[in-house]
Amino acid sequence: MKTSLLSIVLLGAAALPLTAAENISYSQLLREITSVEQAPAPEPSVEKISIPGADAGRYWVTVKAADSRARTRLLEAGLDIVEIAKDSVSGYAGPYTMGQLSNKSFVVTSQVPLADYLGKMNKDFPSQDAAYHNFKETTDLLKEMAARNSDIASLFSIGKTVEGRDIWCLRINSAAKGETPSAKPGALYIGNHHAREHLSNEVPLLFAAYLLDHKNDADIKKYIATLDIYIIPMLNPDGAEYDIKNGSYQYYRKNMSVNSDKSRGVDLNRNYDSWWCQAGASNYPGADTYCGPRAFSEPESQAVKRFVEARRNLKTHISYHTYGSEILYPWGGTDAEISNTRDKQVFIKAGDEMGKLTGYRSYKSSEMYVATGDSCDWAYAAGGIFAFTFELEGRGFYPGAAIITNAVTKNIKAAVYLLSITDNPYKVI
Ligand SMILES: [Zn+2]
Repeated sequence: MKTSLLSIVLLGAAALPLTAAENISYSQLLREITSVEQAPAPEPSVEKISIPGADAGRYWVTVKAADSRARTRLLEAGLDIVEIAKDSVSGYAGPYTMGQLSNKSFVVTSQVPLADYLGKMNKDFPSQDAAYHNFKETTDLLKEMAARNSDIASLFSIGKTVEGRDIWCLRINSAAKGETPSAKPGALYIGNHHAREHLSNEVPLLFAAYLLDHKNDADIKKYIATLDIYIIPMLNPDGAEYDIKNGSYQYYRKNMSVNSDKSRGVDLNRNYDSWWCQAGASNYPGADTYCGPRAFSEPESQAVKRFVEARRNLKTHISYHTYGSEILYPWGGTDAEISNTRDKQVFIKAGDEMGKLTGYRSYKSSEMYVATGDSCDWAYAAGGIFAFTFELEGRGFYPGAAIITNAVTKNIKAAVYLLSITDNPYKVI
């Protein structure tokens, strides 16, 4: 077990050339992604973590142990010691050992159910897709970006997921930080509603890096000075992490809620209160398009609701998904046209402009299919926000790392275009 774990840790490190501290500039990030693409794929791991009865009362524990005698006593209590620190050890404990450790001669400083521990430590992309950022890498990068640009950037969590992860939001604003309100016109970018759509995290994440890297360019400088910019690259980190568990893809779409029938997950992009669950969504909990027990039943969609409702200055929005090379605007939940003809013209014109910059086709969402409960319909209906769904390029949900550079580069142009109209979207008509 010890050998297996160590090898996984080492393989993980070898497959992860990106470290936040060294790679926060946009150009550096792109160079790193390119170099990962060109590197030969490492040999696949020959050992997978597989522990029989992992759920049966087993824990990853940390226990105080100041010297070798104390460690010996812990071994005698049945602890499988894996890591040794100066004043403590960590390792695996089954029910018997947990009973022994409850004796007051031992001091247990932390205990995590083994399934949770393995789940948290072992989630990463397959080696050939190491250029993609998992939750920890995304978090580290966002923290580093905020720390290094503290004059204009701040990072805060808009809420916790089902499994307790933070939903991070990077804000770029020359005056207001964190959750302080701003009267400046706002633009909001969200990625990764759907777990397996990993490219939809990369685009907004690298867009943030681009803006900070180019903060002294005349146009970007003006947007940062005059706008309130919010970037939430990973709305569904639980699902995204689950999708890459054990280093292979799970083709998983939803969040990690446990449903009434014990099936897993709600489709977050069917959970918003816009004709909720009336069409293009399923009432069946096991379905990929399950709309949830009620509108806004999920902590992730609730977080977006609270976020948007608290910020009436938001004017524009892109929600990133994959795939299809499409730009979609309301309505998605009905065949009807938007009743406000000026708004409709803005959607058509701005969609067309971003279509030119990306090579994507822009059209009304319900022309593809009617699907209710989606975030952009809700954002437009609830906040009057010009909200676009981008179905990024690529064939399939796992298009490989080679696609990232191109997809990011062209989508940054569209994202910057959206900033250029955020002060007054009606100027495009
Ligand atoms: Zn999607």
